[in-house]
Amino acid sequence: ASPLKDVHRIAARLDAVAALAENELLRGDLRRELRQVPDMARALSRLAFGRGGPRDLGALRNGLASARGCRDLLLRAAGTLGLPEDLKDIVERLGDAVLALADGLAAALVEEPPVLRRDGGFVREGYRAELDDNRRMRDESRKVIAELQTKYQSETQIKSLKVRHNNVLGYFIEVTAANAKALQTPPLSERFQHRQTMASAMRFTTPELSEAEGRISAAATRALAIEDEIFAELAAKVLREDSGVSAVAAALAELDHTQGLAELAVAERYVRPLLDTSLAFEISGGRHPVVEQALKRDKQTPFIENDCVLGVSRVPSIPTKGAKDKYRQDQDTPGGFDDASDARIWLVTGPNMAGKSTYLRQNAMIAIMAQMGSFVPARSAHIGIVDRLFSRVGAADDLARGRSTFMVEMVETAGILNQAGDRSLVILDEIGRGTATFDGLSIAWATVEYLHDVCKCRALFATHYHELTALSKRLTGVANRTMQVKEWKDDIVFLHKVVPGAADRSYGIQVAKLAGLPSAVIGRASEVLKLLEEADRKTTPEKLIEELPLFAAARPKSHVAKAGPSPVEQALTSINPDAMSPREALDALYKLKTLAVGADDRG
Ligand code: ATP
Repeated sequence: ASPLKDVHRIAARLDAVAALAENELLRGDLRRELRQVPDMARALSRLAFGRGGPRDLGALRNGLASARGCRDLLLRAAGTLGLPEDLKDIVERLGDAVLALADGLAAALVEEPPVLRRDGGFVREGYRAELDDNRRMRDESRKVIAELQTKYQSETQIKSLKVRHNNVLGYFIEVTAANAKALQTPPLSERFQHRQTMASAMRFTTPELSEAEGRISAAATRALAIEDEIFAELAAKVLREDSGVSAVAAALAELDHTQGLAELAVAERYVRPLLDTSLAFEISGGRHPVVEQALKRDKQTPFIENDCVLGVSRVPSIPTKGAKDKYRQDQDTPGGFDDASDARIWLVTGPNMAGKSTYLRQNAMIAIMAQMGSFVPARSAHIGIVDRLFSRVGAADDLARGRSTFMVEMVETAGILNQAGDRSLVILDEIGRGTATFDGLSIAWATVEYLHDVCKCRALFATHYHELTALSKRLTGVANRTMQVKEWKDDIVFLHKVVPGAADRSYGIQVAKLAGLPSAVIGRASEVLKLLEEADRKTTPEKLIEELPLFAAARPKSHVAKAGPSPVEQALTSINPDAMSPREALDALYKLKTLAVGADDRG
């Protein structure tokens, strides 16, 4: 959600990820410890709102114990190998601040506290003497009741006599209806008082039983009251340390995130990116982290790696500890860059389904991953800090807010063109598709020129307007790349490899055939295409290029972006409304109007 732009801070995060990636033993131990950590923030907020129960206290106790476990593991590793700054910082934040609370909770709570506070049973034996006494009284009286059953069975000679309990009667003696007679005739009837008659049983009580029951209930109520008090004390203690506990939870989350990135880096063969303040964007052997997983899961073809080199590569201006060597080493591995072009904008053409969108997005994701401090799915990556990443992909509409699909596309494109600067990275997946062919082509054409001349950003532009590829002849910062395909009989095979060059066809009809369009439609479409292509051949892109003046020359002066303030703007800044009389204000308004009209006339 918020990748960094500060090279040093990114390098610090990468150092932490690298340290955990290299130390498999420590990472494994930390993962085992972190697996125990419950949602501490949630437990804390439930307690703060008075909705918490013993299990929430238990969650915090477990979390704090794991925090201590993680801290010990990191400290031990620090003793042998040393730790990078970010991990040292985490160790400090997992520190002693809430140690007393952790010990207090551990001493008070049983191993698995129940959910409900009102049922008790969550305070550990030995924590408070009074609670233990009452529990003992309660349990001893229960034993007395169990003994009463044996005593009554032998006195009455009724083997099936039972002492039972329910919430309405409390403790009672139950015999079958057939046996009840004996209890209702003297001498037994003097002690056994009738309580309830059921269909097949009768229930009695005795003064002894009532007395034992009274003792149980008094002790149990007192025990529950004591547990309730203890809960309130513990919850108050936790809330007093609220910020300390939150800080520990945050540090654990950060540690979890760092080890997660390290685990991923090792498992998926990600490499440490090199980030600096240049304008480079050099990805060798890049992969899409998600599509790669999907292909692996479905055991389909392997993901094909692709390079991407945008902008001029320079020697890194801020080398980071260890990063340079790693980078060099990765550079030596196979899959190096395919050419030394220094174009900032790549126009990516190629058939449908060839992998253009995947390629665009993988490079944007590599930039985000690198700047969030993660290793990246590539053989090597050298990225000059990207200050903003813009993407326009897919078709969406916002009908409820009065925006059609094309309108949304244009609003997004406008946002990009108005904001992107030379440090931005832009991915544009098809522009101008939702309108008539020539309108769309013209907009796409002008967009590329604007990105090149005005925004001067690094950009990947995927398009099916093959005419656009002619622009690379005129704009030095634009290069063409295409997705390799092989034609085989009447079908095409996608190789998913990005190579220099431009596609001349989109193979849309072949892809439509793969998708299962009726053969009559496919046949007819082929005929129509043939006719259209013959007619089109008369206007080649080269001819278009010759006829169109350069973008810069064609642009009206008022549209020269980033060219200092206009006369109207200058006049506006010099106005101080507080120091003006109404008359002067009116004069100033007329002057502004004249300036504005003059600017329009000049074009
Ligand atoms: P369209 O022009 O029709 O939008 P596209 O060229 O943008 O198509 P993608 O949507 O990127 O094509 O890719 C289509 C499919 O090809 C993906 O879903 C993926 O399964 C596969 N694919 C893309 N890139 C690769 C790759 N590098 N290696 C292997 N498979 C890939």
